[in-house]
Amino acid sequence: MPVIETIKKALHLDHSSTSTPAASSSTAPSSSTAPAAATDLAVPATSITHETPAFDSKDVTVLFVLGGPGVGKGTQCANLVNDYHFVHLSAGDLLRAEQIRPDSEFGAMIKDYIKEGKIVPMEVTVKLLETAIGDALKSPPAAWAAGTSPRFLIDGFPRKMDQAHKFDDSVCASKAVLFFSCTEEVMLERLMERGKTSGREDDNKESIIKRFRTFIETSMPVVEYYRGRNRVYEIPAIGSKEDVYAKVRVAVDEILAK
Ligand code: UDP
Ligand code: MG
Repeated sequence: MPVIETIKKALHLDHSSTSTPAASSSTAPSSSTAPAAATDLAVPATSITHETPAFDSKDVTVLFVLGGPGVGKGTQCANLVNDYHFVHLSAGDLLRAEQIRPDSEFGAMIKDYIKEGKIVPMEVTVKLLETAIGDALKSPPAAWAAGTSPRFLIDGFPRKMDQAHKFDDSVCASKAVLFFSCTEEVMLERLMERGKTSGREDDNKESIIKRFRTFIETSMPVVEYYRGRNRVYEIPAIGSKEDVYAKVRVAVDEILAK
């Protein structure tokens, strides 16, 4: 089944499901629709299932990379790709690519959610990640072919508890979380600087404030959930990129040795 059909089915947008009227009548809101309404997009209550993960965590190492907007996740992930041969999958980048894909039926919806700093319904993001992992395993980077075990950095995900459960249950059980901590003042400064050249519609002060709120209210519970399971490696992301990376290496060496 093509990916988009699978997502539509998951969201009950294929009009062939026998789900509730709310579910079958909901479509992605147009860009003029307030995203508050977008959150009404009916996601079936059955979305959390206890299925077998698509990929076995014995064969594939998954590290989640979390931290507030602008904390420097992407920068540190790039270092790890170079030195440890991870494949780096940014949930935000995958969503932005899906948003502009000409045939995507979710483009307008994703655009609204991102601008408002809200979390896109998990079925879309989880499916994009699962597909990207499958693609990387099918066409592995040279280092994996040469013996490095398959390993992924899932950057900016999971940002909400439902995503965390869904991913661990249906895609691959994650091994650890790299959590970058930083003050909002520093993050705001970094994002405003990035906004000068990023072209991102959410790198403006209004969106940034909303993203901070979503991070505290919705994403920090995910960090605390994994912390309660002793899987969080917290890295203070203050100081130079090199200083932060030195701490990242210590954490990653420890995780990979487990
Ligand atoms: N996003 C989402 N689900 C995710 C990850 C990202 O809905 O699992 C959306 C959300 O609206 C978020 C935006 O994508 O604010 C940008 O995410 P990204 O990770 O690119 O932001 P960063 O943390 O790098 O600043
Ligand atoms: Mg990022």
